[in-house]
Amino acid sequence: MAQTAHEIQGTLPEKADVVIAGGGIIGVSAAYYLAKAGVSVVLCEKGRIAAEQSSRNWGYVRQQGRDPAELPTIMESLRLWRGLGEEIGEDLGFRQTGVIYTAETDADMASYERWLEIAKQYQLDTKLISAKEVEALLPGAGRTWAGALHTPSDGRAEPSKAAPAIARAAERQGAQVLIECAVRGIETEGGRLSHVVTERGSIRTGSLVFAGGAWSTLFCRNLGLELPALNIRSSVLRTSPAPEVTDGAVWSKQVAMRRREDGGYTVSHGYATEFILTPSLLRYGHRFLDAYKKERKRLRIRLKRPFFDELLRAKSWRNDETTPFEKTRILDPPPNTTILNEAFANLKSVYPVLKDVTVAERWAGLIDVTPDAVPVISPVESVPGLYLATGFSGHGFGIGPGAGKVVAEMVTGGPETIDRSPFRYSRFLDGSRVAPWTPV
Ligand SMILES: Cc1cc2nc3c(=O)[nH]c(=O)nc-3n(C[C@H](O)[C@H](O)[C@H](O)COP(=O)(O)OP(=O)(O)OC[C@H]3O[C@@H](n4cnc5c(N)ncnc54)[C@H](O)[C@@H]3O)c2cc1C
Repeated sequence: MAQTAHEIQGTLPEKADVVIAGGGIIGVSAAYYLAKAGVSVVLCEKGRIAAEQSSRNWGYVRQQGRDPAELPTIMESLRLWRGLGEEIGEDLGFRQTGVIYTAETDADMASYERWLEIAKQYQLDTKLISAKEVEALLPGAGRTWAGALHTPSDGRAEPSKAAPAIARAAERQGAQVLIECAVRGIETEGGRLSHVVTERGSIRTGSLVFAGGAWSTLFCRNLGLELPALNIRSSVLRTSPAPEVTDGAVWSKQVAMRRREDGGYTVSHGYATEFILTPSLLRYGHRFLDAYKKERKRLRIRLKRPFFDELLRAKSWRNDETTPFEKTRILDPPPNTTILNEAFANLKSVYPVLKDVTVAERWAGLIDVTPDAVPVISPVESVPGLYLATGFSGHGFGIGPGAGKVVAEMVTGGPETIDRSPFRYSRFLDGSRVAPWTPV
């Protein structure tokens, strides 16, 4: 998981056209597309490139089952993924191997059918496949399903490789990438953002893109801005090399898996989602009631150490003080072994051909989720020059390159080739959208 080959240190420049905070897939993709457009960019990462969500995820690059609000961006993202490795001369581990969601019951199949309507509108190749067709696609399975939803044009990529490679490509385009360089805050002149203050000093700039993943709500709060998002823990394991039951990604209620380049699988529980009680839940919980009603069957709610970690963490600071970003360089929550043991047992019972497989590594990540599970890629109207690119709600890896392109268009004021209105920050302030789209 957290492969952090990217080891760049450097001196802080005095000025830049754009500063990006956060070296996950979103920040590095934005840096790449901005630098490619000739903009001078400095990316500041408090820890290591892609050491948080962007190296810990499942590696699905999927259009299937998405909120329609995200479809134009993810479709563009897939187009970019197909050519990006060659364009930058690096291996991102991208393969167009399809995504399958199996169905337990006819009711599941009926709910997938709703997605087909959306797929048709966007001319996607998604189809409902029969029990027999699933059997043919998953030859090592020891059980049958009612059928499945299948999008052959979806893909997978290697999280340990992709964001560091894109960061290197951004550098080759002229971006400066600084690690162990937390962004503490901003300064304004005449109401406009004029400087970004980092732990190493300040940079004169007209624009800051904050792409800080699970840290974004805290950063905003220190500026007096409300960004309602909660962090959810998700636990993952990877197996030793194993026989091939799929070359792509398969989600089932019991187990979700993705074939890895190293011949193993990245594995998670398909259904259990862990919601850790935190002080943020008390603050923003009411905004998540619709999401809670839809997801409550799969939620396992826990009161754990993160409650106290968050409670004790500073909520505000001055720009000349050490901030929480410097105190926790890398968010590395312990995985939930109960959930992972269940997932691993399910893997072996659903796919008996994998009965001898062993666990090579376990880890967890904190996912930043917004009330409607759609990201924020938006200017903050009250602070001209400040932009947010965050809240990717558990599906930001696949959409990363597309989102990076959206950020570049937004900050440069170039033609809006992808509609970014669904991602506006103001929807949380004016209540114009609160409920998540009913997922399949
Ligand atoms: C277990 C798991 C499974 C997932 N599966 C998938 C999947 O299959 N497909 C998919 O598309 N998505 C998936 N996701 C979601 C996806 O990984 C995220 O949506 C995506 O990586 C978010 O990217 P990001 O750049 O916004 O955030 P991150 O990758 O979390 O990066 C944010 C970065 O900002 C840095 N930072 C924060 N504050 C500051 C600051 N003040 N100054 C400087 N730096 C700062 C952090 O150190 C961090 O490196 C999954 C996530 C997890 C955890």
